[in-house]
Amino acid sequence: MSEARNANADAERARALAADAERVVVKAGTNSLTDAESNLDDDKLDTLVDDIAALRARGKEVLLVSSGAVGAGLGMMALEEDRETVEETQALSTIGQGRLMHRYTESFARYDTQVAQLLLTQHDLEDPERYTNLQNTIETLFEWGVVPIVNENDAVATEEVRIGDNDMLSSSLAVGIDVDLLVTLTDVGGVYTGNPKHDGDAERIAAVGENYDEVSDLVDETASGAFGGIQTKVEGARKVAEHGSPAIIAASEAPDVLERVSEAEPVGTIFLPVDGVDDE
Ligand code: GLU
Repeated sequence: MSEARNANADAERARALAADAERVVVKAGTNSLTDAESNLDDDKLDTLVDDIAALRARGKEVLLVSSGAVGAGLGMMALEEDRETVEETQALSTIGQGRLMHRYTESFARYDTQVAQLLLTQHDLEDPERYTNLQNTIETLFEWGVVPIVNENDAVATEEVRIGDNDMLSSSLAVGIDVDLLVTLTDVGGVYTGNPKHDGDAERIAAVGENYDEVSDLVDETASGAFGGIQTKVEGARKVAEHGSPAIIAASEAPDVLERVSEAEPVGTIFLPVDGVDDE
């Protein structure tokens, strides 16, 4: 078989693994949940919840890592300055987080599903006792059929205790609670050969495996360097792949993106499990 054929077969096997995943972490970014005025966008949020509900209807356990607290708070407060101070950003998160959870509670109620809020900092992931408590809490919520919704605890997360962004948080959790799949939803359709927002010739990279170093260099060159940009998503996805599970970066706009993952369709960019794909 040619190298290209092998790579295709590896990607197909990884997609099959992703489709069969029993435990999934889904990460949704602020842009996937808010409109241009930084208000929580009900339609976007309901669409995400519909898609998660469809996964749960297939018997999967889903943990959601959701940003949007600062964004929602900003929309609610309509501050005049262009740039918020760190303190203001932290305060905004405490306003928006309540609104965010309120909306998730309402939206999941359409499926008779309860949600739980977990706000975490780096300390919680580093301290073995806290981490064990966290794992036990999540296991209990899964047993009860509740959807855990995680965000960084921005109010207390100063520089020293910041996880960095929810991309890192979702990949750490995915590894820690031994999920079979991480899906990072974003406003671009995956990993591209250039920045698709500025470069019309940029092509989507369907699968990342042995080409990881190349892809990582490419992303370093083309990314805007913005906080929580494509680089951290790529790093997070690779971390999960190195742990042995597939990870997918895909567009949040597609209404049934998670459903399509469950049908093993080629969605976004899939990161092949580093040692798992050839084991069958
Ligand atoms: N915790 C922040 C929020 O809820 C988002 C951080 C991130 O997107 O990485 O607004």
